[in-house]
Amino acid sequence: MEATAAVLTELGAELSLERVQLDDPRPDEVLIQIAAVGICHTDLATRDGALPFPLPGVLGHEGSGTVVSVGTAVSKVKPGDRVAISFASCGECLACTPGDPAYCHNFMALNYAGTRLDGSSVITNAAGTVGSSFFGQSSFATHAITGERNLVKVPDDFPLALAGPLGCGIQTGAGAIMRSFKAPAGSSVLILGSGSVGLSAVLGAVVQGCNPIIVVEPVAGRRELAAALGATHALDPADGSTAEQVRAIFPAGVNFVLDTTGLVPALCDAVNALGNQGVLGLLAVPSDPAAALPLPLIQGLVLGLTVKNIVEGDSDPDTFIPQLMQLYLQGKFPFDKFVTTMPFEKINDGIAAQHLGEAVKVVLTLDPAS
Ligand SMILES: [Zn+2]
Ligand SMILES: [Zn+2]
Repeated sequence: MEATAAVLTELGAELSLERVQLDDPRPDEVLIQIAAVGICHTDLATRDGALPFPLPGVLGHEGSGTVVSVGTAVSKVKPGDRVAISFASCGECLACTPGDPAYCHNFMALNYAGTRLDGSSVITNAAGTVGSSFFGQSSFATHAITGERNLVKVPDDFPLALAGPLGCGIQTGAGAIMRSFKAPAGSSVLILGSGSVGLSAVLGAVVQGCNPIIVVEPVAGRRELAAALGATHALDPADGSTAEQVRAIFPAGVNFVLDTTGLVPALCDAVNALGNQGVLGLLAVPSDPAAALPLPLIQGLVLGLTVKNIVEGDSDPDTFIPQLMQLYLQGKFPFDKFVTTMPFEKINDGIAAQHLGEAVKVVLTLDPAS
């Protein structure tokens, strides 16, 4: 079928809306009409070449929409179902089997190869093959082909346009606190950065009952937003060392530091805010693919520190996304407070607004007639 997609033709360039051809869904695939799609930092990092993806290609990995048709082997969803589309996982490897699909042994092949596992592309245009299946979806488009494992049903009372970001950025931030750290009530948390992942982490920390919840963020408006969402302290890195500011609030040092920035100097400072048996969580894609973190070995040994790398907030989308939707409906996870919606046609404006920090999380909405 024909669809309209936002195609990236060269690294760092603007996306161009064009008509493309979408394959029919195979027996194990699902065709989705996209209702909305969030813009995630990983889209921008991939656009800029920090992560590999074949070009021309279609990005977009926080889609939500309605099932149009399903292959004969699909049983999880049916036409008409409202769904959020999360990352792809194989369901069969040593990570997927015990319920850790974020660490799927086929994660790169399923999410970044730009093709199905057999090497075929879902999308073509007049010039030939187009990179597809980004996070198993490539949802910067009116329609997307996914696997059923990517899909989570959206209840009727949950806004469909808000569902997509739960599939990546929101579950990453909240999951880091709620699942990766399993932060207990009363534990102390420092969160570096107040973009959508950092603010989702703040909301996750509030759900867990953490105290204090400290954020470090250079933009005043975002510090205010973090405080409004439940951060107990919002620090400005311009006021000096993060570790010294944190120790002035909480002399023993914090239990958890979560970095959402990928900025090595900020991390080197913040490590010194960790108290005994503290855990450092890393989830950001740095702009320099070769970025490395020097860790003080003696300090780490004496304090018993743990460094934990985190993918997708250790989420199992089938269970965690419904949990986040219920928390939202109960008023306990108000992530809509940092979502800005824009029409899909304005995708380049949306990317610019998010990149410049004018919007925290942009969600592009599509006209169902398109
Ligand atoms: Zn797997
Ligand atoms: Zn993402």
